[in-house]
Amino acid sequence: MKQKIELYDTTLRDGAQGRQIKFSAEDQIRVVRALDEFGIAYIEGGQPGSNPKAAELFERAKDINLKHAKMCAFGSTRHPKSAVEDDANLKALLAAGTEIVTIFAKSSRVQAKEILRVSLDENVKLTGESVAYLKAQGKRVFLDGEHFFDGFFDDSEYALSVLEESWRNGAEVLILCDTNGGRLPSEIAHATRAVIERLPKAPIGIHAHNDAGCGVANSIAAVEAGAVHIQGTINGYGERTGNANLTTIIPTVQLKMGAKLVSDKQLAKLTHVSHLVAELANMNPRDSDPYVGRDAFTHKGGMHADAVNKLKSSYEHIEPETVGNRTHIAVSEVSGRSSLLQKAADFGITLERDAAETRDVLKRVKDMESEGYEFEGADASLELLMLRAKGHDKKFFTLLGYRVSVETSDGNGDSKSEATVKVELPDGQCVHTAAEGAGPVDAINNALRKALEGKYPELEKVHLEDYKVRILDGQSATSAKTRVFIESTDGDTEWDTVGVSENIIAASVHALLDSIEYKLYRTANKT
Ligand SMILES: [Zn+2]
Repeated sequence: MKQKIELYDTTLRDGAQGRQIKFSAEDQIRVVRALDEFGIAYIEGGQPGSNPKAAELFERAKDINLKHAKMCAFGSTRHPKSAVEDDANLKALLAAGTEIVTIFAKSSRVQAKEILRVSLDENVKLTGESVAYLKAQGKRVFLDGEHFFDGFFDDSEYALSVLEESWRNGAEVLILCDTNGGRLPSEIAHATRAVIERLPKAPIGIHAHNDAGCGVANSIAAVEAGAVHIQGTINGYGERTGNANLTTIIPTVQLKMGAKLVSDKQLAKLTHVSHLVAELANMNPRDSDPYVGRDAFTHKGGMHADAVNKLKSSYEHIEPETVGNRTHIAVSEVSGRSSLLQKAADFGITLERDAAETRDVLKRVKDMESEGYEFEGADASLELLMLRAKGHDKKFFTLLGYRVSVETSDGNGDSKSEATVKVELPDGQCVHTAAEGAGPVDAINNALRKALEGKYPELEKVHLEDYKVRILDGQSATSAKTRVFIESTDGDTEWDTVGVSENIIAASVHALLDSIEYKLYRTANKT
């Protein structure tokens, strides 16, 4: 493929429109960091004119040293009744302080007349003026032609005239949007070619939605027709049925169409980025997702698994490692052995392929996974499990018991949590402490630290950075299991641990104990 293609991520703007998607301010920063490292060229942060959280993100993003990506602020063209200099939305866009602003313009006759309620000429004029004004303020301007494809098939001349006016006034990329997501690949290809014929010098982008299940196919059709800029979201998150899924588009375009979007090393992080963003959005990763899903390269017993063992390509369309995934052979002894050995090597732990301890680790991992554990986002817990199998059983402390109470006195929901813990230290000394906290887990954490900090002062710097709870589908609602992920930091490094139980407090305590033990192990092995 000749053309150079740019990636534009809108997970934090369009993706966050998904009903279940919610990113905290902290999560947004982590998404930005992950996308930047992954090699995304442009990150749309949101609409500063209508969303204070977006404005805050742009403020905070200024302090991040982005290596690849540029932040883009998003907003509309000027209001029909206001002049560009006085327009509140354009002001907010400028205030975001980004090098690039992306504005959306009505590029459909119906939308201009019925929704914006301006004359067709006025809509073209206000689009051109908005682009020209932002350009004059020193911005690079990307133009999203909202409802472009529906507009094109209704009145192609009008839809093209909006793009033409934007291009003439200095828009850098013209993005064709299938805002309702109902168009088909052949239609997208036809319209994209028509735009390129009319404006051969203009870089054309595609922004597709997935309402007809064609979000990825439509993006690919546009690229085949000559588009050089792809917009989408990680995991296809977005309003209704979602946006075009970058997690599928990127490996498809890179591995099957020969365009270099990210480096090979970055592509090998794809599965990690997908799962991380899912985790931050508090969504379950979809096992059946192409490329990154847990089952994307899973072969269940019998002939397929046997064939894959003999010749990997027999039932796999790409090498899973190129996208950071791995082959799973379900219900087989060798399941995951290679990747587990790889993981051990990453931790600096030597596991011999056929040693008893390796079989032991494999068995434990499998048993725990069937109980609901998930080590994908909990490296520290996995490392501890390997270390224990290797005989590193130095006990830093033993939790003998704990009790936690939650009390509310005024009935309006304000509550107080208090925990007591009993801990035995290696010298046999028993420590009994009590502490309060914002919630039961916080109270237990505080009580544990109080018990241990005298002996292990390094714990003073540790704090919990994130806490995520997921209810796992159980056979019955009452026995549903809870999985808790905890992310901890000591200011220098971060580590993730996991706990599972039918009881949310017990699951949290498991993850908490792993977190503390991991820090103590790390410190002890450094000195
Ligand atoms: Zn959209």
